[in-house]
Amino acid sequence: MLNIGCHLSISKGYEAIGKDALKINANTFQFFTRNPRGSKAKDIDSEDVKKLLQIMEEHNFAKILGHAPYTLNICSTNERTREFALEVMEDDIRRMEYLPNNLYNFHPGSHVKQGIEIGIKYIIDALNLLLKPDQTTIVLLETMAGKGTEIGGSFEEIKIILDGVKLKDKIGVCLDTCHVYDAGYDIVNDLDGVIDEFDKIIGLDKLYAIHLNDSKNPLASHKDRHAKIGEGTIGKDGIFKVINHSKLRHLPFYLETPNDLQGHGEEIKMLKGAFKDNG
Ligand code: FE
Ligand code: FE
Ligand code: ZN
Repeated sequence: MLNIGCHLSISKGYEAIGKDALKINANTFQFFTRNPRGSKAKDIDSEDVKKLLQIMEEHNFAKILGHAPYTLNICSTNERTREFALEVMEDDIRRMEYLPNNLYNFHPGSHVKQGIEIGIKYIIDALNLLLKPDQTTIVLLETMAGKGTEIGGSFEEIKIILDGVKLKDKIGVCLDTCHVYDAGYDIVNDLDGVIDEFDKIIGLDKLYAIHLNDSKNPLASHKDRHAKIGEGTIGKDGIFKVINHSKLRHLPFYLETPNDLQGHGEEIKMLKGAFKDNG
C-alpha cells in the first residue's frame, strides 16, 4: 500500500486536519506545528487531539510529520536567533508528544558567513540539547537544495550532523525530491545511483520520510521551487519511479506541491494509480 498524504493546514484544529486527509484518500499528512512565519502556537486541546488519534487509528494512518517553521535558523550567526529556534523546537516536540511515535522535520539552516563547520557545530549542539531519551518523536533533518549558505545540500553534510548527535535513535532524515534534484542528485536518470549513494554515506536505515515534489528548475540549479507532480523537471515518470522503488516504497510520502486540497486529492489519486502493489 502506498502511504501518502500532503501538507495540510492545522488552523481548524486536529480533528479537522484528519478529516481533510480522509477527504482526499490520504493516510498521512504533514502540518506546520505553528504559523510557519511566526512563533505563536495555540494551546493544545487534548480532546481535539484525541479525535485525530481516533481517526488515525481507525484508518490505519502511517506516521504523520510535523514541520518546524521554515524561518527558524538554528545555526544563525546571532546567538538570540539560535536560542529562539531551539525554544520553538523544544515546544514543538513537547506538542508532538501528544501524538506519540510520529515525526518532526526541520531545515538544518543557513550558516551565513561564519562557515559551514561552525554552522554544523551549532546544529549538533542544539540537537544534543533538544533530544531527550524518553521522547517518542523522531526528529528529521531535511535534505536541502543548497541555496545560498544552506546546510544539508549534500548527503555528506547531513552525515556529519548525524555523527555528532548522541541520541542516534531519535534522529533521522527526510528526503525532499525537489531539493535533492536541485542540489544536483540526478534522481531522474540515476535513481538507483542516488539511493546507493545515500545508503553508502548516510545509511537507508536513517531515512524516515519523503517529501514528494516536482521541481520548477533543472538539476543542480540550487533553487528550491516546488512544482506540481508532472509539471516540473522531474516529471511524472521520475516521481513514479521514486514511489515504486524497492528501497523507498514502504516510506510515507508527503506532497508539498503548490496545490489546494482538491488538487492534492487528484495528485494522490494519480500516484495511487501509478503505485505497483506487488512491486
Ligand atoms: Fe521543508
Ligand atoms: Fe520539503
Ligand atoms: Zn522546498
